[in-house]
Amino acid sequence: MSEKYDAVIIGAGIIGANLGFEMSKAGYRTLNIDKLPAAGYGSTANSCAIVRCHYSTWPGVAMAYEGFHFWSDWADYLGTDDERGLAGFIQCGAVYVGDSDRYEKKVLPLFDEIGIEYEIWDADEMAEEASYLDMGSYAPPKRPEDDAFWEDPPNRITSAVHTPIAGYITDPQLATHNLQRAAEAKGGAFMFGAEVTEIRVEDGRVAGVTLDNGTQIDAPIVVNVAGPHSFVINEMAGVADSMNIKTRALRHEVHHVPSPNGIDFEKEGMLVGDDDLGTYFRPEVGNHILVGSQDPDCDPQIWVEDPDEFERAITEDQWKAQVLRLARRIPSLGVPSDKKGVVDLYDVSDDWIPIYDKTDLPGFYVAIGTSGNQFKNCHIAAYCLTKLIQEVETGHDHDADPVTVKMPYTGLELDMGVFSRNREINKDSSFSVLG
Ligand SMILES: Cc1cc2nc3c(=O)[nH]c(=O)nc-3n(C[C@H](O)[C@H](O)[C@H](O)COP(=O)(O)OP(=O)(O)OC[C@H]3O[C@@H](n4cnc5c(N)ncnc54)[C@H](O)[C@@H]3O)c2cc1C
Repeated sequence: MSEKYDAVIIGAGIIGANLGFEMSKAGYRTLNIDKLPAAGYGSTANSCAIVRCHYSTWPGVAMAYEGFHFWSDWADYLGTDDERGLAGFIQCGAVYVGDSDRYEKKVLPLFDEIGIEYEIWDADEMAEEASYLDMGSYAPPKRPEDDAFWEDPPNRITSAVHTPIAGYITDPQLATHNLQRAAEAKGGAFMFGAEVTEIRVEDGRVAGVTLDNGTQIDAPIVVNVAGPHSFVINEMAGVADSMNIKTRALRHEVHHVPSPNGIDFEKEGMLVGDDDLGTYFRPEVGNHILVGSQDPDCDPQIWVEDPDEFERAITEDQWKAQVLRLARRIPSLGVPSDKKGVVDLYDVSDDWIPIYDKTDLPGFYVAIGTSGNQFKNCHIAAYCLTKLIQEVETGHDHDADPVTVKMPYTGLELDMGVFSRNREINKDSSFSVLG
């Protein structure tokens, strides 16, 4: 006997769980299957969960702006309690320093067009708002092994872009659990500790999945939301070769350091996007600072062939690179000898823009290629993919005539063709985690 559902969602990370919720609300009987023991235990668990909207394309900015509204309305959006409590949205604001060309030519015109609130801070305002930041300009980013890293900054940063609405989610795994509970309240089911090993096809259409213990689950719709395993699942479904845009897993380290003495960065700190030094950092609980990399050209990129086998320990070299870059920006920072942080994988698409689409296998859909920057967009991505699935399943030819979705909070129209598997590489992308 096999079990039957309207839709099987492979993965219960933040996007998979949110898709379970959106599709359940839309009336589908869904089953999220995850090989890990609980929701949000994959790459979501190690997400920095930053919520900001400085993307390089109109859809990137518009989706992220829509995402703010979902996070601000979290309890109402979920519509149900979670015995573990709800994840919080800390709107500490964000300041972006460096690469003023990118901001002036690409990002700020999009902020103006979409109506996103921002201010340009000059050096005096920066000193007033964040006196702990040194505004030396070191660009382009370098590594500590390079003698030039240690030179005095040749220039000063004279302005920065401040967006007051930006912030971060306190606990990405809890946010995913919140979504699981919300999906369950609408009839969605979750299965953990079960690995999908086969996508079954009958009469040219997806028919369900087979698990590692041999169980067969039937469903006319299967969605790949497997995060860094997305390419493995696409190969399993036989659709990888038919997609113009591919996905790969990229290793990424995030480090945690205590705030400098005398600074309550957890309460007073902001999210800082530092294009000048190639990092980003934000406040973290316990008065810590969490620092990640913007993957500058000088840093090695470690592409991982098997997402189940990669180095999970922090490396001395990358720890030094990121923490010393942070110490240049916050000179009072002590550099601890005890290395703390997390290591995980981004699921990167060829142009660092996600793929939210159907595939050439009828009934098989993807929400993949989230490229280190789609935690914040989980709800709007799930909302739009649900609409796309509804349209395609009722006969719409999305490839010929892309589905458009009116986003619920902002009313902005999103052309889902932008996220097509068969698009040309989007040259407006930053080709980095900035999207
Ligand atoms: C270090 C790091 C920092 C980040 N920082 C940010 C940030 O600040 N802001 C932001 O917006 N985004 C950020 N991101 C990106 C964001 O976290 C991801 O886009 C998002 O978490 C992806 O969610 P997901 O549900 O698609 O994937 P995942 O959370 O990876 O979930 C996929 C799930 O699929 C399961 N799975 C895989 N294969 C199978 C199988 N065969 N059978 C059953 N289950 C399977 C896995 O076990 C996993 O739980 C960051 C990512 C990382 C790694």
